[in-house]
Amino acid sequence: MLVTLFHVAGVCSLFGTPISLSSLKLTYRSAMAASVRIAIVGDVHDDWNLQEDTKALQLLQSDLVLFTGDFGNENVEVVRSIAELKVAKAVILGNHDAWSTQQFAERRKDRVQLQLECNILSGLGSYVNDICGRDWVFGGGDHGDPDLARAISQLKETTKLSIPLVVFGHMHKELAYGNGLRKMIVVGADNTIYLNGAIVPRIKRLVADEQATNSKTLMNNETSVSTPNAIGTVRAFTLVEISDGKLKKIAEAWVSVVGDKTALEEEHILYSRGPGGTEISV
Ligand SMILES: [Zn+2]
Repeated sequence: MLVTLFHVAGVCSLFGTPISLSSLKLTYRSAMAASVRIAIVGDVHDDWNLQEDTKALQLLQSDLVLFTGDFGNENVEVVRSIAELKVAKAVILGNHDAWSTQQFAERRKDRVQLQLECNILSGLGSYVNDICGRDWVFGGGDHGDPDLARAISQLKETTKLSIPLVVFGHMHKELAYGNGLRKMIVVGADNTIYLNGAIVPRIKRLVADEQATNSKTLMNNETSVSTPNAIGTVRAFTLVEISDGKLKKIAEAWVSVVGDKTALEEEHILYSRGPGGTEISV
């Protein structure tokens, strides 16, 4: 358990500095717990509301929340709001978090690249829809960072500890030019699971279905807050369940928040460990 969580946070902190991580508290809690649930909030891109996301996270009962960066285009208010979240959390910055001021441009390029590229790693495929594949150019290509791939393999060699899970964001699930959806999980040959949490946009509006008499609701893909008849939201998280130090289940979860009511609307299983110890990746 300790190892798993250490490496989840550790991979993030290799190149970027987590802004907030109650690591000691978390370690203590994890050591005592037989199971741990991690909620990943992928690239936020302004889709964050402290009250609503807090309610959703309460329903999910996560022990730790991981943020993969891209809060907005240097959206300090969103980052401040996330800092107020009263849950153990680890936060890493993305390229959009140094977007307009160009503080790290040109002459400090090396440093930027280290920070910006920290989220993804090479060697996981080069098709457009691969987990780190280029979807904005014809023919695709591997957009991963070889430095991070090397760092992870070096960590494995030198520490002799396994790294069951590597979490990152940056590569959005919805591909450019309407080319469909990206693969969000890869089980590596060494059994390390590479997980992309960048479900963007992560919020859908819930609207009243005027045709239905039982006031059913429909999910609307429009993210505009001005959607008429909006009665609430549905918010995306990627959930990781770890039991006795082993990954048990990974799922994309959509939680509805309507006033004070929350419910799990959709759950797409990405990985589950079968009853006979078989690992199934869906
Ligand atoms: Zn992004």
